[in-house]
Amino acid sequence: MSAVAEAVAIAPETSEFLARDHKLFINGQWVDAHSREKHAVYDPATEAQIATFDIADETDVDMAVAAARKAFKGEWSKISSHERSIMMMRLADEIDANLQTLAEIEVMDNGLPMALAKYTISGHAANFVRYYAGWPTKILGDTIPVSPMGVPNGESLTYTKREPIGVVGAIIPWNAPIAMFVLKLAPALAAGCTMVIKPAELTPLIALKLCDLIKKAGIPDGVVNVIPGAGRVAGAAMATHPDIDKISFTGSTEVGQRIVQSCLGNLKKVTLELGGKSPVVVFPDADIEAVKVGAIRAAFFLQGQNCMAGTRLFVHQDVFDEVIQGVAAIANAMKIGPGLDPNNDLGPLISADQREVVMSYIQAGKDEGAELICGGEALPGKGHFVQPTIFTHPHQDIKIAREEIFGPVLFAQPFSDSDLEAIAAEANKSIYGLSGSVWTKDISVGLKMASLIDSGQVSINCHAAVDPAIPFGGNKMSGWGREFGKEGLEPYLKTKSTTVIF
Ligand code: NAP
Ligand code: MG
Repeated sequence: MSAVAEAVAIAPETSEFLARDHKLFINGQWVDAHSREKHAVYDPATEAQIATFDIADETDVDMAVAAARKAFKGEWSKISSHERSIMMMRLADEIDANLQTLAEIEVMDNGLPMALAKYTISGHAANFVRYYAGWPTKILGDTIPVSPMGVPNGESLTYTKREPIGVVGAIIPWNAPIAMFVLKLAPALAAGCTMVIKPAELTPLIALKLCDLIKKAGIPDGVVNVIPGAGRVAGAAMATHPDIDKISFTGSTEVGQRIVQSCLGNLKKVTLELGGKSPVVVFPDADIEAVKVGAIRAAFFLQGQNCMAGTRLFVHQDVFDEVIQGVAAIANAMKIGPGLDPNNDLGPLISADQREVVMSYIQAGKDEGAELICGGEALPGKGHFVQPTIFTHPHQDIKIAREEIFGPVLFAQPFSDSDLEAIAAEANKSIYGLSGSVWTKDISVGLKMASLIDSGQVSINCHAAVDPAIPFGGNKMSGWGREFGKEGLEPYLKTKSTTVIF
């Protein structure tokens, strides 16, 4: 166990969980991985090994898919929509009831600050499951008022039914493990699907803990199978698997493109939530104090390892210096350290590799002549900590303005234009289109800009308004499809039309 974990006395349930022999969760049982290979989990704040887990290969994927298929055709299909809702409600309650342990596991696995971990669990994950628990009884088909095949009017009935798409393969990243897990799980269960979930190799723990809660909630064996494994092995095997009907993927654009290719074999359906480089546009009439806090949250939430991060800050030149200095002052005052210590505002990056990637971007910013306003250094000693960093530059033709960094690096640029189309053209200069925000007291300007920004989600006077009911997803190379809300249910359903001639 890590020194920090000992120092803050994690709950006995957490210690007991970490010490377990973590296996794969297939058909409701803990089973050894076929290869018997084990990987270690490290706390990114201390670099101490905190657990080991079994790693799945192609054979394990086959077993998990077979279990999911059996449950899909069998017990799960016999359970009423009402009962599905009740099970999901129970799961949400279990998530709330296990808040402390789940939060400690998430902090030690991923590195995020404790308060944020608790928010993502109670505020987001439990409520996300609860929101989708309301849907099973409300998935409706239509009756179609036509008389097909020349049948006289009134002598036929045509209706549609929404059916679960089948066995879903969910492949998720490490940046927000519990949020990503429930994002896939809840709509799939609501739709009546069964699942094989591959958590990220770097952060398998919360997914394994959730298996306990899934079982406790009474969700039948085989409905949810969790197999930590390497993307290039288990993830790739899921994407090509002939008996998986749909892949729901969150991760990088590059891997998303590879997954699309792999899914061609059986034409499985695919949804993709990919990268981002979202704009934050600040007009001179905005509430500048709110902008400063909002820009910090937008850029440095989850240490910037956040797909919806607002990492391109466009500020009108009249207030540029005031905003940038204010944002830098908050960034400089942020306490950086292990998330288990409740006094820390910013945790570590996920790994030494990720820190290296981020530091190479910071170097690129310096090399390409951007002005470093604050931060720019990795912290010495244990843990993959990087200071919140802000660069400014007059234009976006530099690497740190174009590429997703996935770390605490904010690029800021002044604008002088008053033409909204021209400002939007600058904000839209990205291959991505995931999120974005506009800051102004002029609601007409706010709404016009919101409509001009080419992103799946734009917020006015806040960044990335997230709620289970609000659709979220990417335009351009940020993805395919939407998650959250009613739209988030659609990719897990297929329509069957039936006609009867009387
Ligand atoms: P990643 O490398 O694409 O990995 C995501 C998942 O895909 C992991 O489970 C990974 O397994 C797996 N994977 C890797 N190669 C694979 C392959 N060939 N076939 C099948 N699966 C494969 O992404 P990441 O580096 O973990 O996460 C960062 C990226 O995710 C960023 O670009 C970020 O913007 C994006 N993201 C997007 C959203 C969103 O909602 N739009 C949310 C969070 C993150 P391993 O565990 O072995 O790597
Ligand atoms: Mg990766």
